[in-house]
Amino acid sequence: MTDTKPKDNFVREIIDGDLAVGKNQGRVHTRFPPEPNGYLHIGHAKSICLNFGLAADYKGKCNLRFDDTNPETEEPDYVRSIKEDVRWLGFDWEDREFYASDYFGRLYDYAVDLIRKGDAYVCDLTAEQVTEYRGTLTGPGKESPGRGRGVEENLDLFARMRAGEFPDGAKTLRARIDMADPNLLMRDPVLYRVRRAHHYRTGDAWCIYPTYDWAHGQSDSIEGVTHSICTLEFEVHRPLYDWFLVRLGIHRPRQIEFARLSLSHTVLSKRKLLTLVKEGFVDGWDDPRMPTISAFRRRGYTPASIRRFCDEIGVAKANSIVDEALLEHGLREELNKTAPRAMAVLRPLKVVLTNYPEGSAEELDCVNNPEDPGRGTRKVPFSRVLYIERDDFMEDPPKKFFRLSPGKEVRLRYAYFMTCTGVVKDPATGEIVEVHCTYDPATRGGDAPDGRSPKATLHWVSAGHAIPAEVRLYDTLFTKRDPNELEEGADWKSNLNPKSLETIAGARLEPSLAAAEPGSRWQFERLGYFCADIGLSRPGAPVFLRTVTLRDTWARIQKSGRENE
Ligand code: ATP
Ligand code: MG
Repeated sequence: MTDTKPKDNFVREIIDGDLAVGKNQGRVHTRFPPEPNGYLHIGHAKSICLNFGLAADYKGKCNLRFDDTNPETEEPDYVRSIKEDVRWLGFDWEDREFYASDYFGRLYDYAVDLIRKGDAYVCDLTAEQVTEYRGTLTGPGKESPGRGRGVEENLDLFARMRAGEFPDGAKTLRARIDMADPNLLMRDPVLYRVRRAHHYRTGDAWCIYPTYDWAHGQSDSIEGVTHSICTLEFEVHRPLYDWFLVRLGIHRPRQIEFARLSLSHTVLSKRKLLTLVKEGFVDGWDDPRMPTISAFRRRGYTPASIRRFCDEIGVAKANSIVDEALLEHGLREELNKTAPRAMAVLRPLKVVLTNYPEGSAEELDCVNNPEDPGRGTRKVPFSRVLYIERDDFMEDPPKKFFRLSPGKEVRLRYAYFMTCTGVVKDPATGEIVEVHCTYDPATRGGDAPDGRSPKATLHWVSAGHAIPAEVRLYDTLFTKRDPNELEEGADWKSNLNPKSLETIAGARLEPSLAAAEPGSRWQFERLGYFCADIGLSRPGAPVFLRTVTLRDTWARIQKSGRENE
């Protein structure tokens, strides 16, 4: 699923080059290879859009493969959520849903093949010793005592590892490469460990598990992948993956690395996100403050806005932090065209129109979407007692305050002009509990026959008709643009924003919103875009989450970015 013509990038150049020389019989086959150990985040969306997008552009294929080699951390619920998210983003893996765990048998056979070729051996060192023997960036490693074992002995020991004859951690299978290679990953990497762990798919069939490095490249090869696209940190693994494939003499995909996405004011690491979930800093993986795809969905983001974002950030070779304002900018542009308008008052202040007939009411026509006249109008009830936003009134305003204050006239959106004539205060606290105004009947619909135009237009609801509702507002999850930037000794969680969620219990909404479908998206006039929450809404009692405010900070960031150049 692609929305626009693809932008040129270095990955496409490589693929074009391969096609030009007739590699892979002209096939383009990619894959998205998540490990089912957490929910997908927006960084994964970048990889999904890239892999599925390339396959679509080149009329090729993209597999969904679960790289599930780590039994302790993987779960079926993660598999379910990953599939849901990829589908929601608009991509289809058709019948190509694969699992590295389905290749455990073949990976085992490949390992036997390496042993036969003298390229792997069983090692008796403990995990700590393996690390110790590995050496350093400046000095070579030390050979394991098991390195000199003959083929027959290795075959026998490896078979017995699989048969469960050795305790966990007692033995490993390692590739025999070079303990002095400048690339530490080439210093006889571990291929198999003894580990009695229950796997969510293979159960207790195995007591040895392949390492990610052993499984990943061969899994791509088995699937006939032509271009294995991964993030930059795998660049140093490439010689190792190639070494395995060359020694095994099997199909060798071409690995291409690109920079991973980092988004401002959040973290994109499943390990950290899991910590936030487990330690209760957020309310689950789909808490709307999370950078997960499920959280964006719940919060009201559209799949198109996420695809557009991934397209706009492009693929590059250098890591950088992308400002979340870019993601919001695209979403706002889309919702501006598609989201129907409605009126909601978050922090109600009562207004009494003293010259409006008591006990009567009328219905006013309000435009559903000024960007799309075809959406028509709706009737919104209006009466003598209204609610406006508490912030829209000041008894003693500073000079530049153009909204309501004593003696001032404002426009009520799609309704009338009104002028403040006085306030009523709680005698005990001095708090303003009511504002008194007179309205001008000649301004019905929001225009004056004499052409006068107040500086401010306020949104409102009729007190007697409005429905009460809970509304949730969000701020960034972390206070720092780069939450991983820490003072000496500080914990990354210390950068969490204590004000990331604000729950407003007593909002008042125009009555039409009582019927808002869970998941539906709206623009509340002057307040932002909101989504009726799928999780918390009840029939007739929706709970609204603010998807994004109306203020577009992207333009400002771009401007200041240019100034800094
Ligand atoms: P994390 O660092 O969040 O734990 P991961 O890389 O361990 O992520 P995987 O499940 O292995 O998670 O990722 C699946 C695919 O998504 C990989 O190909 C990986 O390169 C890609 N990916 C993960 N994070 C990002 C990111 N921030 N930007 C772009 N691609 C990413
Ligand atoms: Mg990974």
